[in-house]
Amino acid sequence: MASLCRNAVFRVCSRSFSKAPVCYKYDKWQMPDPMDLATGLEKRELLAYQAGNDDPFMMKGAVRGPGTKDQPNEIPSAFDSRIIGCVCEEDSTSILWMWLHSGIPKRCKCGHWFKLVKKTPI
Ligand SMILES: [Zn+2]
Repeated sequence: MASLCRNAVFRVCSRSFSKAPVCYKYDKWQMPDPMDLATGLEKRELLAYQAGNDDPFMMKGAVRGPGTKDQPNEIPSAFDSRIIGCVCEEDSTSILWMWLHSGIPKRCKCGHWFKLVKKTPI
């Protein structure tokens, strides 16, 4: 009985186990492709990068346009609200943050208008 248990233990311990982060693909050992490992939002982000979209989450700063009431600065968002920041003066060291809601154009204290524009999420 003891030898049976010992054999079972050794059999389990003798299994080959590798924790190296490489895989065998295309007839050679190499690092796995991140696209094969990614799922969910990360996968959609990687697909957007491959499609040429370098700002899939619309996080890059935008240069203001005329910003009048008739031609407001359009801010893309996949949601009904978004926080935006306006650098009111070129040499300003602070950012004026404000909420922007869908369907309600908003005027900053510096006089520029902003409008939320629906954009499909990635
Ligand atoms: Zn402003």
